[in-house]
Amino acid sequence: MQKHLICSECFKDEGLKLDARKIGIKNKKDCRNCNKKNGSKLTAKLIGDLAYRFFVKGTSWKVDYGAAPLIQFNEHQKTSISFKEPLKSDVVLIEKNISIGFFDYGPRLWMLGHIEPLKKLQTRKYRKEIIDRIIKEYPSLTLTSDAKFYRLRKNPKEPEKHSEYDSPPKSGNGRLDSNRLPILYASPDLEVCIHECRSTAIDHLFVSTLQPKSNLKLLNLAVILEEDCTEFESLDISVQFLFYAENHSYEISREIAKAAYKSGFDGIIYPSYFSSLRTGSYPTETIYGMSIRKFPQFKDRIENQIIPNVALFGRPIKEKKISVECINKVILDRIDYHIHFGPIGY
Ligand SMILES: [Zn+2]
Repeated sequence: MQKHLICSECFKDEGLKLDARKIGIKNKKDCRNCNKKNGSKLTAKLIGDLAYRFFVKGTSWKVDYGAAPLIQFNEHQKTSISFKEPLKSDVVLIEKNISIGFFDYGPRLWMLGHIEPLKKLQTRKYRKEIIDRIIKEYPSLTLTSDAKFYRLRKNPKEPEKHSEYDSPPKSGNGRLDSNRLPILYASPDLEVCIHECRSTAIDHLFVSTLQPKSNLKLLNLAVILEEDCTEFESLDISVQFLFYAENHSYEISREIAKAAYKSGFDGIIYPSYFSSLRTGSYPTETIYGMSIRKFPQFKDRIENQIIPNVALFGRPIKEKKISVECINKVILDRIDYHIHFGPIGY
């Protein structure tokens, strides 16, 4: 068993203290550093986890495509950032116990979207070349009549009517739909539907349970593509960043949808924008600056962090490709935020 070195109450910075209370071990023993009994105790491993959560995840800086932390730490460097009190003495405490140093992180440029296929997708000239690769290189997935997914509606006029849950009458505002290609968005994860619909407690929410009536062939973009290249040439990370980006990226994702439709797919499975929020994962997690998506041993873990969304082309309820099995009212009676903290003014 690892020794309990310090506790949450040893810290002066409130955010760090609250984060430490959350991840530490709760017991009534005296802390060997501050002697208090009520703190959550931290082993060397947990101090490292806390440092990662507070200083690395807590300084994540999101750009148009991608994100990178502003601070990193390792055991080879001495701290070169001048933190202010009360954080300054907390950093000394961490350094003393697990012999690490904090420094300004100069991210590898792929983390900020400098990836060949991604750059090409942003140009009119080369976009098609990359979209053709996406259609060809990603696997297809067949949804059978056993599959079940949910579609949420906010304030529908006639909630009991099946057509309320089909693709909306006007399209062209979402991530994948365009004027001539309506799309029904759904997910097997109801909480993702609630986030994707930007729902609040004052909305009247209804959910329909949908099932395919026959096999549906979908382009599966929610997988990790096995590739033999660096992050700078990665189609896999390009697609991941595309779906993690906001509405400046929709022009590109709509073109992917149109191409998939033309190639005979019934729809697309894609990673939810809210994947990282829902699972608490970090989109550009790295080991020594390499994306963890590049390590085969992490494949299952990362794929479990991807919450898939389903986008079906056309008006699949009207076209009898899927059926509405059930409709329920949804009540949000408790909102549960998971928070963590980061430093400022360093
Ligand atoms: Zn303590």
